[in-house]
Amino acid sequence: MVDALRVTATSSRGLTSLRAANRRLIVDRLQRQGEISRAALARHTGLSGTTVSSLIAELEAEGLVAETGADDRGTGRTGRPARLLRFVPPRTLVAGLELGHASIRVAVSDLAGQVKVEQAIDFDVDDAGPGALDRAAELLGDAIDAGGIGWQDIGRLVLGIPGYVDPQSGTVVSGRMRNWAHLVPAEILTAKTGLPTTTENDADLSAVGEQMFGAAKGLQDVVYVKVSSGIGAGLVLGGRLHRAAEGGTGEIGHVQVSESGSICTCGNRGCLETIASVPQAIEVLREVHADALSAADLDRLTRAGDRATVRVLTDMGREIGRAVADLCNLLAPQAVVFGGDIDEALEPLVDAVRRSVERYTQPRTAARVRIVRTSLGHRAGVLGAVATAIDSHPLLVG
Ligand SMILES: [Zn+2]
Repeated sequence: MVDALRVTATSSRGLTSLRAANRRLIVDRLQRQGEISRAALARHTGLSGTTVSSLIAELEAEGLVAETGADDRGTGRTGRPARLLRFVPPRTLVAGLELGHASIRVAVSDLAGQVKVEQAIDFDVDDAGPGALDRAAELLGDAIDAGGIGWQDIGRLVLGIPGYVDPQSGTVVSGRMRNWAHLVPAEILTAKTGLPTTTENDADLSAVGEQMFGAAKGLQDVVYVKVSSGIGAGLVLGGRLHRAAEGGTGEIGHVQVSESGSICTCGNRGCLETIASVPQAIEVLREVHADALSAADLDRLTRAGDRATVRVLTDMGREIGRAVADLCNLLAPQAVVFGGDIDEALEPLVDAVRRSVERYTQPRTAARVRIVRTSLGHRAGVLGAVATAIDSHPLLVG
């Protein structure tokens, strides 16, 4: 069990030191007493009834205190019997789930970020649509069983999706996940798992994952660029994920690169991702590699040094690099980390991005920014989900 001092110390952001000290007294008494009424708590701690009630309400809301029933031990008083309270041991694990277009990943970790169990399956999320949430909940259950973990030990769940949610309502608003529009995935997963759940964009979570555990570990200002069916970015600024009050950050794939280019999924014309994405690379290569159909094929061809593949990815990298160079001029990040559906195929792409940044970014910034490939690979998103769940855990807020 986490001791009282730790519970108090780590739960007290924004509290006055007096309130934190009072809270410590109450948690300490609850832990030692087993079951106790509010009146007895006030008596033992010397705090006023109002203070005790206020702090108990706060602890109840955090799931650290529960009512166990009426006190029938006979206090000698008349009227409604007092309700007894007990301390509920804190849930010390968190879970992350990430839906890709063709896979689902899950991880469960403790509050120090030590992963207890991690699993992934191939699954056609795009075709399954919202039904993928059923499979995701099942996968979480499987992982919990495999790890010998109890559901009651998990305090929070963060879900990553390849789309955007409205930060206020949690409703899916993004264009690519069309049959998800107006869904609230967090509500659906909470109904299935009983866990408090929040939904985040997968590129955002990958940015957090790389900053907490990966290629940008320990840096404050990090951009993560996901190369997938489109191009998306996540921004960690000043050590915090930049969500924006109204959401919608990181849409680097919709920077216009050609006034008269192809129509984009967003309804605009000539967006970056109409010429730079995994499906676009496969399409362009059809002339010479009609059988190359997947991201894995791009990796295989790059590994083999295929001239056309390297050329296409280099061209894509140059275009992406133009947009990233502007981003570097505006934000001066310490690192820009590339990941997504491709692995080895990122290498020529990232090399080209680096050359574009050297050319179009202010020299001082260009000399400092690290343009690198992910070090977490396909795990970046789910590890970012775990890190985000830890960050929002009531025990660690502070
Ligand atoms: Zn667009």
